[in-house]
Amino acid sequence: MEVDYGTVWTDCLEVIKGSVGEENFNTWFKPIVPLKVEGDVLTIQVPSQFFYEWLEDNYVPVLKKALTTVLGPSGRLEYSVIVDSGNTTNPPVAVHYPNGMGGKRQSNGMGDEYSPFQFKALNPLTVNSRLNPAYTFENFVEGDCNRLARSAGVAVAKKPGTTSFNPLMLYGGVGVGKTHLVQAIGNEIRNNMPNKIVLYVDQNDFTTQFLNALQNHKLQEFQNFYLQVDLLILDDVQFLAGREKTQEIFFHIFNQLHQSGKQIIMTSDCPPRDMKGFQERLLSRFKWGLTADLQEPDFETKLAIIHRKMQADGIDIPTEVAEYLAYSVDTNLRDMEGVLNSLIFHATLLKKNIDLELAKEVLKNIIKEIQSDVSVDFIQKTVSEYFKVDLESLKSKIKKREIVIPRQVAMYFCKRYTQLTLALIGENFGGRDHSTVIHALESVEDMMKTDSNFKLSVDELGKKLKLRMN
Ligand code: ADP
Ligand code: MG
Repeated sequence: MEVDYGTVWTDCLEVIKGSVGEENFNTWFKPIVPLKVEGDVLTIQVPSQFFYEWLEDNYVPVLKKALTTVLGPSGRLEYSVIVDSGNTTNPPVAVHYPNGMGGKRQSNGMGDEYSPFQFKALNPLTVNSRLNPAYTFENFVEGDCNRLARSAGVAVAKKPGTTSFNPLMLYGGVGVGKTHLVQAIGNEIRNNMPNKIVLYVDQNDFTTQFLNALQNHKLQEFQNFYLQVDLLILDDVQFLAGREKTQEIFFHIFNQLHQSGKQIIMTSDCPPRDMKGFQERLLSRFKWGLTADLQEPDFETKLAIIHRKMQADGIDIPTEVAEYLAYSVDTNLRDMEGVLNSLIFHATLLKKNIDLELAKEVLKNIIKEIQSDVSVDFIQKTVSEYFKVDLESLKSKIKKREIVIPRQVAMYFCKRYTQLTLALIGENFGGRDHSTVIHALESVEDMMKTDSNFKLSVDELGKKLKLRMN
């Protein structure tokens, strides 16, 4: 019997309407487009990854009720998330998720049900690659901080296993984009080479699977599975430290894959030479291919990431707000993601305008640890004493070089140690605008890179100011 998915969805909407307020109904349910019904599975299309996550986090009970009413107790829901609506050659990628498991949604968008043991001979079309389709090269912003790693990634994605970048080892601190980049490589290969078996696992998955296999006497299946993979991505390999047995099996898999020309990609929080708790033979293999680092993103890259993300969600963000965020969120990009998601939430759900005030409020709630109270006055006074320049000149518009540099340094510390916006910092230095302040911050950062004496002075000043803060 043909089921009319339009009718099914309309019936669901009736149920939903009774359970959520009108505003929420219009915001979260009206934009949904039903795609198909197969058996008792209804597939709906949602406008963005954020949208999907919001539904999963907030409306699972409501959706479940609607499905049960309309399709019966075994009714299930699958989402098709529009990841890149501008690209018509790539159909929207479906993120499959059974209804009713919202609380267990994982950050990579995959379910829990995955088991490597259910496969004998792997079919590339059905293997769960565990990739999040939202991580692509298109939305990975290129900058000085990641250029080498990114181009190596692009090269590997074009010719997996056949470049000299095997293994490709990417390392860097928290939130610099390692997972995003390696998943982008995986997605690219999966899209362009559908006969290749791509697998993304983080160290934790790998270890758990291995220990399960060991316990259940399924080691052979475990190995068979991994040896059929064409592209193996192992994320956060540093956590294998001290796990002798897991390293052992990984060493074996690594060798087999490498020998048969399969591509291996790994990430770590430090370069192989600094990795502790690893067998030497494994470390030496990590160095066979290319090791590339990802640095903390610079201002320009952060700005581009902010714009890209907001654009993807169709939200206008004023330049001054974007600049404020790019400077203020100096912990890592994951925090930035949190701040942006929260802004998107305010803009879409509460229909607020994104302005500096809102940005500051959001920032304060998300990034707690930074910046306590040290006043602009105190910074200005300390800096003027340190450089032996007159306080009034420091706060004026005088353009003499011996004043300009201390003034820029003072602005730099105002940015780091106060909650003030760029515009407000400018106000405190003779009424300059925010772009002058940005310029000042950049000059100070540049000088610190090129002039070690200058850097020493700034560090010393920083310590003086910090003493006061604690
Ligand atoms: P890591 O694995 O290094 O800790 P992630 O890959 O999880 O970092 O990145 C953290 C967040 O920042 C993710 O949401 C990711 O999409 C985003 N991100 C990181 N680098 C970039 C970039 N260059 N362009 C766009 N988004 C990025
Ligand atoms: Mg990561």
